[in-house]
Amino acid sequence: MPDIDLLVTGATVVTPEGRRQAHVAVQDGLIHSVGPDRPPARQTVDASGLLLLPGGVDTHVHLMDPGSTEREDFPTGTAAATAAGVTTIVEHSHGQPVRTVDDLRDKIDYLRGRSNVDFGLAAHAWPGAADQVTPLWRAGVAFFKLFTCTTHGVPGHDAAALKAHLQQTARTGAVSLMHCEDESLTGAAEEELRAQGRVDAGILLDWRNREAELVAVAVAALLVRRAGARATIAHVSSPEVAEYVSAERARGAQIAVESCPQYFLLREDEVHEHGALRKFTPPARARIDDDELRMWQLLRAGLLTHMSSDHAPSTREQKRAGDIWNVHFGLPGLDSTFAILLDAAARGHLAYEDVARVYSEAPARAYGLWPRKGSMLPGADADLALVDPTAQRTLRDADVISKAGWTPYAGRTVTGQVVRTFLRGELVAENSVPTDGRTGRFRPGAGGAAGPIS
Ligand SMILES: [Zn+2]
Repeated sequence: MPDIDLLVTGATVVTPEGRRQAHVAVQDGLIHSVGPDRPPARQTVDASGLLLLPGGVDTHVHLMDPGSTEREDFPTGTAAATAAGVTTIVEHSHGQPVRTVDDLRDKIDYLRGRSNVDFGLAAHAWPGAADQVTPLWRAGVAFFKLFTCTTHGVPGHDAAALKAHLQQTARTGAVSLMHCEDESLTGAAEEELRAQGRVDAGILLDWRNREAELVAVAVAALLVRRAGARATIAHVSSPEVAEYVSAERARGAQIAVESCPQYFLLREDEVHEHGALRKFTPPARARIDDDELRMWQLLRAGLLTHMSSDHAPSTREQKRAGDIWNVHFGLPGLDSTFAILLDAAARGHLAYEDVARVYSEAPARAYGLWPRKGSMLPGADADLALVDPTAQRTLRDADVISKAGWTPYAGRTVTGQVVRTFLRGELVAENSVPTDGRTGRFRPGAGGAAGPIS
């Protein structure tokens, strides 16, 4: 037998099923074998003392490219991803949404040679345009993003529009990612706050209030179940929301439940000190350490099914350009999400197996990317994150690769670091330095499984 391309020796291989000492052989960009064999290889990486996880799969990412590249673009955002250990993203941007098959083809063309990671692309569902669902799904979008409230310039779906969209996705087999805040509740709160002349950052908590999220989640989850559709609730902010969704899941709703680090680590009252640098929606809800602990418990137990960054960066200057009502929503997150999950494992909130589940396998499964992505099964893409579980570092703005140039987690010391990232067997980052090879490829969603349309 000729030598294989790459052998990673001596690592503790971590998957959702467990961990074991094994050698991982890679041939032609794919996992060839995982086990006790040490076939002769052209290149060998000694990974003794390290953990080997599937590369991160971050399915809620906004790279603003094309659209608002002064905030981020594919080269910078995906370089940040590889440095962090993320090898697959699903991207969508609100400034230049994909609403038709032509939009999708144009975006795939435009992105050729601009990505350091493999990527799927999501479409935006538009109220009254349910007829676009089937052609877009068959053209290979990963999911349909929809809002229940007009946000970032994207019109919201009321219950009737949501029902029409979900019924169409159920017929087609498509999946949706639903941003849930009730338009009438956020609208009434906004009217009241503006009438009071409020421009302090504290408005975020009243404007994007807990009831608005709960009401929209309750309606959306009910409609998903009644339509027999499949969907994900985006960025679930608190245990209360997760428990509502869990009740619909128990009744048979096919719903995945996404959350993000900002709903674990950031505190509700930080908006008063940090203002626009904590403007994202839903806002942070945790008030005390026990709130954070409860979120980790729900993630470990599977009531929160997977994690994403919801990476939506702005620079500090952009976050200062306007009052609290008008500045962009969103946080940078691709740089930090994997690190925060590894740190949670080091602190005992999760097992490393949970990290592989919630940031690789489960999101890949939710959008039809598994087992090619998010697994280490023979034949899967050899997307790997080699982790030193004992390395400690303090997160700093200066180390952020995203154009944002800052992180809400600056000053936080984390344990566990991705020391090498491989995309289809090629080294794409080492010790947090990306190689910037731009070798990432478009990966169609489940409806386009016949192959990429490019
Ligand atoms: Zn988002």
